[in-house]
Amino acid sequence: MKPRTFDYLRAKTLADVFAVFEAHGDEALILAGGQSVVPALNMRLSEPAILVDINRIPELDRIELQGGVVRIGALCRHETVRRSDVIAGHVPLLVQALAHVAHPAIRNRGTLGGSLCNADPAAELPACALALGTTMVVESASGSRRIPASDFFIGFYETSLEPGEVLVAMEVPVAGNGEIHFFDEIARRQGDFALAGLAAVAKCDGGRLVSVRFAFHSCGDRSLLSPQLSAVVEGMPNGAVDGAAIDAALKGDLDPPDDAVTSSETRLHLAGVLVRRALAHINSEADT
Ligand SMILES: Cc1cc2nc3c(=O)[nH]c(=O)nc-3n(C[C@H](O)[C@H](O)[C@H](O)COP(=O)(O)OP(=O)(O)OC[C@H]3O[C@@H](n4cnc5c(N)ncnc54)[C@H](O)[C@@H]3O)c2cc1C
Repeated sequence: MKPRTFDYLRAKTLADVFAVFEAHGDEALILAGGQSVVPALNMRLSEPAILVDINRIPELDRIELQGGVVRIGALCRHETVRRSDVIAGHVPLLVQALAHVAHPAIRNRGTLGGSLCNADPAAELPACALALGTTMVVESASGSRRIPASDFFIGFYETSLEPGEVLVAMEVPVAGNGEIHFFDEIARRQGDFALAGLAAVAKCDGGRLVSVRFAFHSCGDRSLLSPQLSAVVEGMPNGAVDGAAIDAALKGDLDPPDDAVTSSETRLHLAGVLVRRALAHINSEADT
């Protein structure tokens, strides 16, 4: 299929984007890397009157270390972030996770902002944003606001962005001393969307797990934190695993749907496998 006819504007500034939203309201759609937008246009799942292309707005594609946070511009490509020394040094979780996002051709075009705003429940980056405690920096004609990742993903392909708002950057706290990052997923083939995936950020001290955030993708209508699982493992001696309590916590926090790909039960089982891998990794890293 081919898309319906639409107008196109290449924005040079954020003010250009706001002007398009002012004139066209929800008939306007942002084009970033186009890796989700273009297929949706071609299949006529999306029929905007105008596409506003943000690829030439220079300030949106920077990675900067600012005190205790790494600020990643929304237009930074997946592959740029994966190869960045700043990211490798301060947010290793993203390097691990991005290797699982699709294939090089898609990672060369796809942007972090596009993936987060698309809010695909099977995407890796929303889970990373939750595990890392990321803050989304958003701008519109009426000003800017900051949204914690835990309030950003609100449903199936749905975020708390208001009409006319643009995600301009993500602010990620730098990994502190003793912080351990873990990412893994189970997919049929490398580069496929996962059957289940897990991003985790842990802190250990004195042989115990002090705190850990577990964020799952492909296990519900959006990426989800598992507070019950954190409560089960926090305070435990490193290496201790209470399998029954882990499985009960996962059942309490995750409710993956049955779908054409696999069953809810299988996704929950795979989530449990990933948690056990994460705890083994955290234990081995805490000892080093
Ligand atoms: C074959 C294939 C396989 C893929 N596999 C994976 C995978 O395994 N894992 C994965 O996570 N992703 C996968 N993707 C998706 C890919 O990661 C995309 O990069 C991502 O979904 C969207 O990023 P984008 O920059 O292309 O955004 P676009 O497609 O340009 O935009 C996506 C949505 O976000 C909105 N948007 C974009 N930027 C902003 C912004 N700054 N502010 C507000 N709204 C904005 C757009 O209007 C649109 O609604 C795959 C894509 C393809 C085509």
